[in-house]
Amino acid sequence: MSKSSVPTISVSDFSADILRHLKQSLGKDARHASLYDWRMSLSLALRDHVVDPWFESTRKTYEARGKRVYYLSMEFLIGRLIEDVAVNLGFDAIAAQAMQSLGQDYAEVVANEPDAALGNGGLGRLAACFMDSLSTLGIPAYGYGIRYEHGLFEQHFEDGAQMETAETWLAQRHVWEFERPEVSYPIHFGGDVVEEMGKTIWRAGETVMASAYDTPVVGWQGRWANTLRLWAATPTTAFDLESFNRGDYMAASAPEALARTISRVLYPDDTTDIGKELRLKQEYFFTSASIQDLLRRFLSEGGDLRALPDHVAIQLNDTHPAIAGPELVRILMDDHGFEVAQAISTARGCLAYTNHTLLPEALERWPEDLFIRVLPRHHRIIQLIEAAHLAATTSDIRILEHGEVKMGELAFIMAHHVNGVSALHSDLVKETVFSDLHADYPGRIINQTNGITPRRWLYSCNPPLRNLINETIGTGWPDDLQQLDGLSDHVGDAGFIEKFQVAKDANKARLCDWLHKRDGVSLDPHAMFDVQIKRIHEYKRQLMNLLETVALWNEIRENPNAGWTPRVKIFGGKAAPGYVVAKEIIHLINDAATIINADPVTRDYLQIVYPENYNVSMAEILIPATDLSEQISTAGKEASGTGNMKFALNGAPTIGTLDGANVEIRDCVGADNFFLFGLTAAQVTERRSVPEYARRAVEASPRLARVLKQIESGVFSPSDKARYHGLVQGLMNHDYFLVTCDFDSYFDTQRIVDKAFADQPSWTRMAALNTARVGWFSSDRTISGYARDIWKTPSLIASMGSRKDVA
Ligand SMILES: *Cc1c(COP(=O)(O)O)cnc(C)c1O
Repeated sequence: MSKSSVPTISVSDFSADILRHLKQSLGKDARHASLYDWRMSLSLALRDHVVDPWFESTRKTYEARGKRVYYLSMEFLIGRLIEDVAVNLGFDAIAAQAMQSLGQDYAEVVANEPDAALGNGGLGRLAACFMDSLSTLGIPAYGYGIRYEHGLFEQHFEDGAQMETAETWLAQRHVWEFERPEVSYPIHFGGDVVEEMGKTIWRAGETVMASAYDTPVVGWQGRWANTLRLWAATPTTAFDLESFNRGDYMAASAPEALARTISRVLYPDDTTDIGKELRLKQEYFFTSASIQDLLRRFLSEGGDLRALPDHVAIQLNDTHPAIAGPELVRILMDDHGFEVAQAISTARGCLAYTNHTLLPEALERWPEDLFIRVLPRHHRIIQLIEAAHLAATTSDIRILEHGEVKMGELAFIMAHHVNGVSALHSDLVKETVFSDLHADYPGRIINQTNGITPRRWLYSCNPPLRNLINETIGTGWPDDLQQLDGLSDHVGDAGFIEKFQVAKDANKARLCDWLHKRDGVSLDPHAMFDVQIKRIHEYKRQLMNLLETVALWNEIRENPNAGWTPRVKIFGGKAAPGYVVAKEIIHLINDAATIINADPVTRDYLQIVYPENYNVSMAEILIPATDLSEQISTAGKEASGTGNMKFALNGAPTIGTLDGANVEIRDCVGADNFFLFGLTAAQVTERRSVPEYARRAVEASPRLARVLKQIESGVFSPSDKARYHGLVQGLMNHDYFLVTCDFDSYFDTQRIVDKAFADQPSWTRMAALNTARVGWFSSDRTISGYARDIWKTPSLIASMGSRKDVA
């Protein structure tokens, strides 16, 4: 392992750096500095130490003249950065001591930072973990995305119902980024396409500029730093002084308003095609800017465009940047004189596509007339791509069909590899959505099971467990997570198990404090913390969890002295603002919490809490404090999940279905250390063909029938007894996600969990085995897989070449 290239620094020198920034960068006297001022000064002092490794990495990349990875993602769900940067630089202890020496509470300063929430959930968080791993592994890479002015909305509850307000992270200065006014590209929309002297010319209707903002992403021990480049939209036209002087202020600012709209908001819906022109423009905006940028870099190094695939690996995170294919073909043909076939094969040599969903409603399709209106030249190029595909195969799969542009098919056809995100998901991609294209292009679909960065999701968020692991197996694990296997040798040691328990208890106590301060809620720290946190979606089945909670409440009431295992059911997550059923589920959970938490008979055994506004920072507090991880999606619907990995890594066994990466987690931790229930993906498909399967399931389960009756009759909504009528009727009549069919199996398995938890040493052993055996789920392993199988990019950190997990 290479020595850290991080300059070490003394606490007093670092304190002096912070004070210097306070004075010089913030213009504040320490006596009058606010928490915000301290946070800015600390961030700037840390940032100073990122710049050297960043420049050094850039220099090495230029020297190597090798291949760069370009990770295009509509979302980056980053969270806070102070602790992340401090930990990666090895400055975490120094930063804490420096703040203390300055009379400040480090934790409070860290918590003052707003989350960078430029994503909805798993897909965006994956992109953030990948950036961390690309830097840790020393693979030259750029992340490309949009610098949204407003990230994911903030969630509040009003009488239990979700309300949304705009998120305003950029209302404060974002200290981690560097504005690059010199890096900007025109992005064209609309207009028409004409032939002039044998040349095809796109005469655009409107143009905005894409301006770059760069955030350095430093990897473990500061050995390497890549760039996250986010694009902001700005107007091309100069300010219209004439209109302004005439008093027409609106007209004067119209071009600006139009441009700014494009990078204004993150769409708060990651699963459905919202079918809006603005969304298509956002996608093209950041994709075109990124393609122009990487071509400029390639050409400035004197590259011959025919060799582009040897120097450029573009990864499309889902179909949102799928326009990259036609855009690259357009530039090669229209600006560089490539023939169609050569342009297509060159573009394909650069492009790879990650599929994240099998849900048909989530595969992007644009109305063809809208598409022609916004991107007329690209529409013609897609026709050429489709024709080339039809000519080269026996396929009858089209990209343009029924008046729609199918972005999944486009991404697939233009990619040299298509990957799913877990073993099960990749198999289902071959068997279902892309079965025909799989036959046309055998070998194109491969698997790269998702992962998570252990720096954020263990080292930084779980100090008690981190310290215990360091004590037990040494400190080499954060960038070589398979080393956690070494913990397996210690699970038979009662002393180790005791310490593991102490660490979990400390995390639970921290959560209790946090919840008490934030929401005034008091929890029993000895109860089982049973946690389901993720976006609210019918397929994720928060509703089944709630139904089980009500059923449990009923049984405790009837038999309060039966020795129940005390439980706290913790929910967290946002619903897309337009997703009515998901919002009803949130309302129901909160309504049930009001009634159940007030019940004196059951209160010692069952509590429900649902803290508002789940985000990365909340996950970092909840996950280390979790005893039981809920991963209960309908089998075949969760492509991978990454929340499931975070919990297992932090010593929380899973209750779950055979879905997504749960399958592989169970393989790793062992069937004895995973609470499996429910139908398999194949059984789900089969069950859907049984007439009236939901009604039959309810009739066969008096326990479930009773719960549904209570909810439907208004037991939890006494002021509005009909509130959940529709929700319950929906379950009885459709239940596409088979909540009713899996309910009994889920309930019974929860009772097995009760018994298992009652034997604490044995439970803790199971928890420790989860931590020990999930090292494979590091995003370093995932990125190594992409580098080896898709990108063919080596690490530029000299000592990394020999590591077993590096391509
Ligand atoms: C990890 C993470 C997710 C993804 O969770 P899943 O359970 O895999 O859906 C979503 N949101 C946040 C804030 C996360 O940290």
